[in-house]
Amino acid sequence: MDNAFCTINNQTYSAYQFSQLDIATISQLRRFLECPTCHAPAFFRKAARNGQAACFGARPHNDECIESAPLSRLINGENDDEDVLHNDGQRIVLDLNYGAAEAVNHIDDDMNENGAGRGVRFRGNGNRPNAVVHRRLSTILRSLIINPAFRFSEQMIEVGTINQTISEFFVPFNEINQNCIGRICGYWGQIVDIGAGQDGTIWLNSGGREDVSLCLPTTIQQRFFDRFRINMVEDLVGSYILYLGDLRVSQNNKYYIVIDELTFVTCY
Ligand SMILES: [Zn+2]
Repeated sequence: MDNAFCTINNQTYSAYQFSQLDIATISQLRRFLECPTCHAPAFFRKAARNGQAACFGARPHNDECIESAPLSRLINGENDDEDVLHNDGQRIVLDLNYGAAEAVNHIDDDMNENGAGRGVRFRGNGNRPNAVVHRRLSTILRSLIINPAFRFSEQMIEVGTINQTISEFFVPFNEINQNCIGRICGYWGQIVDIGAGQDGTIWLNSGGREDVSLCLPTTIQQRFFDRFRINMVEDLVGSYILYLGDLRVSQNNKYYIVIDELTFVTCY
């Protein structure tokens, strides 16, 4: 998305224009951006060290918004997740050891330029009611993002000793409520803002003050950055994240999730 509309001053900015504002103005305005076409909330991402220019993105665009072209390209190039959807009789077993076993350089193997998967594929050869498909966390996150029907799927997912339906187990950040406190789920959504604690803790914020934040303790930060090839923490803005863990609530009623296990997290 090349342009974003700022609701605080009713101005439309190009990503480059916005990036030229002073830091204080950027941090003030970036929470009030929206897609100029569908008015979905938008985020701003600074230029990255790897050469990627500053850009805007929406989180996400409304259906059929013309600004959301990259996502539809992704859907068209995707086969892996359709297979999941079209095999309703199957149980999905989440393969958590994949990342740990395959080491750092294989982490994005399942997502090449075309969005085509290189991972395990089930081609739908016959309806085997008890068939099991193994999926990686990253594949599941991609399905949740690009395929709304998958979020509501009644297909069973097995994670360790947990057996639940997809729709029960995966909770988008914006649907977190007090019933989730202490519950182990697959919490997922988009990171729109980064915060830093005085003790070096990094906070990945999913929205405004009422929304959940994910905490990256100092002990895991370097491994997390290596694993997902992140140069600066700012690169995470706009990314989707999925974490299997429990929801906690702070003394001032702020929801948060602590990322303390690398095998339970994926970024996209
Ligand atoms: Zn839009």
